[in-house]
Amino acid sequence: MPDSVSTVVVDGKSLAEDIRSEIAAEVAALVAAGHRPPCLAVVLVGDDPASASYIKGKRRASARAGMDSVERRLPSDESQDELLAVVRALNEDEGVDGILVQLPVPDGVDAEAIAEAVDPAKDVDGLHPLNSGRLLANRPGLYPCTPTGILEVLDRHGVKLEGKHAVVIGRSAIVGKPVALLLLHRHATVTVCHSRTRDLPGLCRQADVLVAAVGRPRLVRADWVKPGAAVIDVGVNVIDGKLVGDVDLGAVQGRASLVTPPRGGIGPMTITMLLRNTVAAYRARKGL
Ligand code: NAP
Repeated sequence: MPDSVSTVVVDGKSLAEDIRSEIAAEVAALVAAGHRPPCLAVVLVGDDPASASYIKGKRRASARAGMDSVERRLPSDESQDELLAVVRALNEDEGVDGILVQLPVPDGVDAEAIAEAVDPAKDVDGLHPLNSGRLLANRPGLYPCTPTGILEVLDRHGVKLEGKHAVVIGRSAIVGKPVALLLLHRHATVTVCHSRTRDLPGLCRQADVLVAAVGRPRLVRADWVKPGAAVIDVGVNVIDGKLVGDVDLGAVQGRASLVTPPRGGIGPMTITMLLRNTVAAYRARKGL
């Protein structure tokens, strides 16, 4: 492989639009057949502006796909019991198909207890232990959205995974671990790295597929990337008001075969997979 490679910068926005059109067509067909549209419930605790904006984006995307959504907002000083009561009410609500509790939750709220309270059949974030177990066992279930969005990007760009070495930086429950499992199920050989990993650059240099889900601006430099590797940048970091990924985007161009940009890369795919999970949850609950 020559050192200068032509790099595809993934247009996640347009890929997401294509998939959202497919989802909208599916929803329109369900409605035309006499069913109600799928409905996503979003729960926001506190007044974090970034979370409020994420929730708005998710509701807007649902509406554009022809789906309904409802919102429950709780003040940041709401107790865990009150939040659990809201989640249980949504579990019982026949008109709600998917439930998403926007993370992070305020201090004093146990995010894992909240994830476990969501009905696994409505767990569109894929964080309930039952769905985590299904993912581990490679059985159908609701899987976390960013990891499935990453696989969709790789598949739609024809990146082969079988027998390839995939290196994932990050081991969170929402990105690192589930994407590692998805890559493993697709027969990649997977190395999961984290803050205690030794010789991170050396491991990254072995990767045919490199996924950075860390939250450290421009951690991955050009000389960490094997020429021709596919590089997925999940990181969202804001520096001087500018969105910066975990990968030095400018530097890896000419070296990676594919890279996702910090804006219009994995982010739009995550919301798209949330819509897909909501339709899947709806179909499964209704036996459609
Ligand atoms: P997280 O829970 O903070 O996990 C970060 C992981 O990175 C941890 O496993 C940590 O290791 C590891 N890490 C931290 N510093 C490191 C270093 N210097 N070298 C190697 N590993 C290091 O974060 P997350 O929720 O997975 O999110 C990761 C990033 O993706 C964030 O920037 C987040 O905003 C972004 N994100 C984007 C989307 C999207 O849709 N675009 C969705 C989700 C997240 P330890 O486990 O040892 O602490």
